[in-house]
Amino acid sequence: MAIAKKVQGFIDRASWIRRMFEQGAALRQRFGEENVFDFTLGNPSVEPPEAFKQELLDLAQNPQPGMHRYMNNAGYEETRAAVAQVLVQKSDLAVKPSQVVMTCGAGGALNVVLKTILNPGEEVIILAPFFVEYKFYIDNHGGTPVEVWTDRNTFQPDLEAIEAAIGPKTRAIILNSPNNPTGVIYPRDTLEQLGRILEQKEKELNRQIYVISDEPYARLSYDGLEVPCIFNAVRNSVIVTSHSKDLALPGERIGYLAANPEMNEVDLFIEGAVFCNRVLGFVNAPALMQRLVSHLQHVSVDIQEYQDKRDILYLHLSKMGFEMVKPQGGFYLFPRSPLADDIEFVKQAQNHNILLVPGSGFGAPGYFRIAYCIDRSIIERSLPAWEKLARETVK
Ligand code: PLP
Repeated sequence: MAIAKKVQGFIDRASWIRRMFEQGAALRQRFGEENVFDFTLGNPSVEPPEAFKQELLDLAQNPQPGMHRYMNNAGYEETRAAVAQVLVQKSDLAVKPSQVVMTCGAGGALNVVLKTILNPGEEVIILAPFFVEYKFYIDNHGGTPVEVWTDRNTFQPDLEAIEAAIGPKTRAIILNSPNNPTGVIYPRDTLEQLGRILEQKEKELNRQIYVISDEPYARLSYDGLEVPCIFNAVRNSVIVTSHSKDLALPGERIGYLAANPEMNEVDLFIEGAVFCNRVLGFVNAPALMQRLVSHLQHVSVDIQEYQDKRDILYLHLSKMGFEMVKPQGGFYLFPRSPLADDIEFVKQAQNHNILLVPGSGFGAPGYFRIAYCIDRSIIERSLPAWEKLARETVK
């Protein structure tokens, strides 16, 4: 075999993603771009905010000597200071620039953190439904994913189930709030309870257990809801995030990780993370993007636009009989599949030119995901097709 057996196995298991793309492309060719309603990708259709373009122009017109060179593997001081300042405001804790490492997106940050903390065979708890890449990232660094279901009615963490899953090999729990694919936000009280459980378990098992809080949607919350800061709830916590969604820059690969200043042996953790950023081959986050986002820490895309899209879909799909939790943030809906087989449902949706991702892809058969980071006009034009699909499938 020309490639590693494990990778071949992963490709085979993930082949539904490829099939979905192929089917989408075939539908577009047959019916035309505007007649296919593609809700599959978390790739924002909105443009970055005006302030981003201004910064980009400024930088292009006033290039600084050395601005394309390597820098400290952790990133520019100026950028780390800007991020730290935001986190100080958010947490009221003394987060230092030295506790921030700039990374190639949230995906890069997750890999850096996992490489930094995992010994071979150690376990990482992930909460189903989960972001599809978590299992691959954990495997990248010799870890073992342990799936724990959230509450199936609310998609909130099931603290008893998490507690029961923690054992002598547990090294970390990945949280993702606002959540992909469910759109729920974990409230402060839940995070604080989790913090207390972990403190107890750390004592009992005599080992450090991290919460990795994956937050690329943290600035996309609706109805004025606040996304609580994990630092105030869990001592051994690290934030991983990016500007892929809040500044609509997913292709630019700019993000960061930040350690809770109260973390046990925080300096050692950061030293490890900076080293791993280097040896994973990322070396450092893109230089130009670091310069730009330093000045954009209080800027984001128009959140009202996403909230309006959520409202249109939630209102109409609920009326049609689809059951779902109303998202509080992010840009996904995760309704229950009206057919027992979610893959069959997604196939049936394709007959109406609606492209969706089956819940099975998120470790959650029996549901499907709608990504509504697409043009509002496509959402509105898709409603008659949804009506037909509902008449066929919703009992
Ligand atoms: N984590 C979650 C939950 C995501 O949904 C995504 C992207 O969709 C990522 C991480 C990766 O983000 P990035 O593009 O910043 O690597």
